[in-house]
Amino acid sequence: MAYGTDLITLGRRIRHHRRERGLTLDQLGAKVGVVGSQLSLIENGRREPKLSLLQALSAELDVPMPDLLRDEAPDERTALEIELAKAQAGPLYSTLGLPIVPPSRSLPMETLQSLVGLHRELDRRARQSIATPEEARRANTENKAGMRERANYLPDLEQAAQDALASVGHTTGALTHRSVSLLAERLGFTLVYVDDLPHSARSVTDLHNGRIYLPPASIPGGHGLRSMALQAMAHRILDHTPPENYADFLRQRLEINYFAAACLMPLEQSVRFLQAAKQRKDLSVEDFRDAFGVTHEAAALRMTNLATSHLDMRVHFLRVGEDGAVYKAYENDGLPLPTDVTGAVEGQPVCDKWAARGALARTNRTTEFYQYTDTPAGTFWCATQTGSMSDQGEFSITFGVPFAEAKWFRGRDTQQRRVSTCPDESCCRRPSSELAERWSTAAWPSAKLHAHILSPLPSGKFPGVAENEVYQFLERHAGTLS
Ligand SMILES: [Zn+2]
Repeated sequence: MAYGTDLITLGRRIRHHRRERGLTLDQLGAKVGVVGSQLSLIENGRREPKLSLLQALSAELDVPMPDLLRDEAPDERTALEIELAKAQAGPLYSTLGLPIVPPSRSLPMETLQSLVGLHRELDRRARQSIATPEEARRANTENKAGMRERANYLPDLEQAAQDALASVGHTTGALTHRSVSLLAERLGFTLVYVDDLPHSARSVTDLHNGRIYLPPASIPGGHGLRSMALQAMAHRILDHTPPENYADFLRQRLEINYFAAACLMPLEQSVRFLQAAKQRKDLSVEDFRDAFGVTHEAAALRMTNLATSHLDMRVHFLRVGEDGAVYKAYENDGLPLPTDVTGAVEGQPVCDKWAARGALARTNRTTEFYQYTDTPAGTFWCATQTGSMSDQGEFSITFGVPFAEAKWFRGRDTQQRRVSTCPDESCCRRPSSELAERWSTAAWPSAKLHAHILSPLPSGKFPGVAENEVYQFLERHAGTLS
């Protein structure tokens, strides 16, 4: 638009000032040299006035040009009229084949408010991506295939993390809470720890007052807090906008997780640490975890980022729940992960011969559990650690490599070896004929309902988080600003 403002708003500002002067269309038209009908088209935003005409109008109405060109409505009623005119001119309304209601002065205020309200809601619903389980699974599977192609390594995010760390002078050692706070400050945020976050939110950012709200600092596992704060900042650092669809939502979540991990386990220090351990033939997730003060899962996942790109090694990662189902998995070493017909691994049961299952059955779990597993795709070695979370029960974290790479790892000399022929059902899924005969007509189990990651599906303004809860929360805390 030639004047840097939209024609509807410009037209309404002209009309507003004309009426204030008590002039009719014809009267003002005569003064500036156009017929009334021309002026009407301009006031309705349907014709763009020439600069000379604008100058004449500015002089005649005694309104300075910059004022005439301001991009806001002259009053509340006009703002609604403009919104209605724009909504009716938009692509969404035009698909409906309904008549245009002229947003004229004769339109009662309630009618105007009602129509604008309906248009807003129509727009909101159209934008809201209501992902079906199939769409979500597809987006997730595509996302993962893309990451596998890139060896789970994202150089741009590594760079963003390095820049962020350099900006607060972090060069060595574990990333402290202090450095994370400094980084927040540099971005114009204060970290505030509260105990009444909305249940569905991990953190809430107040852009008005420059605050990032996090759960109480006293909960065990400082890594979680640093990670959450970094993730909240990552949205800003990586210029995220509200996700438009489920694929977008997944990509953003992946990026903030990656960024946080790359800050907590910085590229150069991590690679140096891992390469040295490889040279000593003493690689282990637990040492890497302890060196950088992160969780076992975070360390294992970070190793999947760096193994192929910097250690020349193909690897796999598994997080398996106490029900034996995959919660999270990655492989680029050919380990035959269980999948459903769409190629998704989440929620699929892993072979009960695998260490990911076997480790959960052990009674002594203080150390990593090592195992060689023969599969139809070759022999793999892995290290499995178990843990538990109050809300998710027990789980195991597995990091593994093909047989030939086991020589670099602590635990390579284990005598533990199992044979798995999965996905052949006779491996561990199909009961023996003897058992089947005895029980097939007498067994009647009742299934637990699984709350797996992909359901319920996020939708709405803040995917997965209740909008109203977030606003109420912010309202509550904005009052505590000094
Ligand atoms: Zn099996």
